[in-house]
Amino acid sequence: MEGLLTRCRALPALATCSHQLSQYAPQRFHHCAPGRGKRLMLSRMFQPQKLREDQVLSLEGRSGDLTCKSQRLMLQMGLIHPASPGCYHLLPYTVRAMEKLVRVIDQEMQTIGGQKVNMPSLSPAELWRATKRWDSMGRELLRLRDRHGKDYCLGPTHEEAITALVASQKTLSYKQLPFLLYQVTRKFRDEPRPRFGLLRGREFYMKDMYTFDSSPEAAQLTYSLVCDAYSSLFNRLGLRCIKVQADVGSIGGMVSHEFQLPVDVGEDRLVVCPSCHFSANMETLDSSRTNCPACQGPLTETKGIEVGHTFYLGTKYSSIFNAQFINVHGKPSLAEMGCYGLGVTRILAAAIEVLSTEDCVRWPGLLAPYQVCLIPPKKGSKEEAAAELAGDLYNHITEAVPQLQGEVLLDDRTHLTIGNRLKDANKLGYPFVIIAAKRALDDPAHFEVWCQNTGEVVFLTREGVLELLSQVQVV
Ligand code: ATP
Ligand code: MG
Repeated sequence: MEGLLTRCRALPALATCSHQLSQYAPQRFHHCAPGRGKRLMLSRMFQPQKLREDQVLSLEGRSGDLTCKSQRLMLQMGLIHPASPGCYHLLPYTVRAMEKLVRVIDQEMQTIGGQKVNMPSLSPAELWRATKRWDSMGRELLRLRDRHGKDYCLGPTHEEAITALVASQKTLSYKQLPFLLYQVTRKFRDEPRPRFGLLRGREFYMKDMYTFDSSPEAAQLTYSLVCDAYSSLFNRLGLRCIKVQADVGSIGGMVSHEFQLPVDVGEDRLVVCPSCHFSANMETLDSSRTNCPACQGPLTETKGIEVGHTFYLGTKYSSIFNAQFINVHGKPSLAEMGCYGLGVTRILAAAIEVLSTEDCVRWPGLLAPYQVCLIPPKKGSKEEAAAELAGDLYNHITEAVPQLQGEVLLDDRTHLTIGNRLKDANKLGYPFVIIAAKRALDDPAHFEVWCQNTGEVVFLTREGVLELLSQVQVV
């Protein structure tokens, strides 16, 4: 409690901070008592449309093609809106969740020494001709021609571009290796069957990392470092992924693993061995195989969504583009490469797919677009006097728990009953929903707190609420 009081006294500095914030987004904030900061009002936010299933179907424009829970929920709740097959507008809640996901990814990639770049989506055909992928990728490549008759594709992945970029750096020294470059950008693939909403789009966000090492041994070390960073990322999101042996596909290389999220709508068939933990994508095994190649025990089958993919490439690309570094002997030497993808938009949808109920969206705690929704009483109700206490609580939260600045919404639609607003909040999956109703008029005031991720409902005093919320992790 002492800690809470000390934090409350740090008020003036925080008030300045929220004032500065309001200069950039004044329309979303409601000015309240002078010096007490601004409030984020739900009535001014982008509102979910609460569409019925048949209305969602007509939005997508293809009847009978609503294929999974995350797609339906994301459309119904106004998280995404269809633009054309496999392309979606990402609406404000989704953008907030995605920005948080990108921050977690940045932390993990930078912990292992990753440096962020940003490469153009427009990718010249000659790069793809050099690796023969201009032909071998076939109709998956979205191609276009500029006014000078020069051919391009919209990048589905960036091995060619990054290797040509690194090859242009003539002074790269072994002392700089391992060199880990990554980006988070839109990727384009003319998928034969875009479906499942963000799970399989034609335009989607990917985090792609490319690594450059001085020897195969060093590259293997980097490979396991990146795999560990991926495991750490999925652990932090509370997603139980399995790492399976995978096929190298059109990217090529020698060693490859996929990070798979086991769920029924998954399009990949996986086998796992319960005794020795061998696991593989079925496409890497002989189809008649029923026992584990490592321990001969029986294999079990499951379906999964591929959320990440890692490849050890060797010199497949560096030899084509002549991506070299100056070795210890002062001589140029080809870089040993790896490439590593994470489906950013796919991870968001996959998380919703595995965590949500049929009617209610649930997010990994770290990615929830807003952490707290505060519901004051209905206008004209018996508890109306508690409205002021709700406003005060709002101020106390944002002042005493600095990481929750910008994370607390006040559901000011006070023409609606608490029950109706609670239902909406439950559907959108705020990790904490706090209601100021009858017991807020007790002395001391008690607030009803719904902890969505544990399913608990507790009555807490203001100090109790602050204590609980001060433990919330925000990225
Ligand atoms: P899939 O087998 O699902 O088609 P892929 O093996 O072709 O995927 P990669 O080239 O390995 O995909 O791309 C890296 C990551 O990008 C994948 O692990 C996945 O998470 C994501 N991804 C790939 N294709 C799509 C897509 N069409 N929509 C959304 N995310 C995708
Ligand atoms: Mg893959």
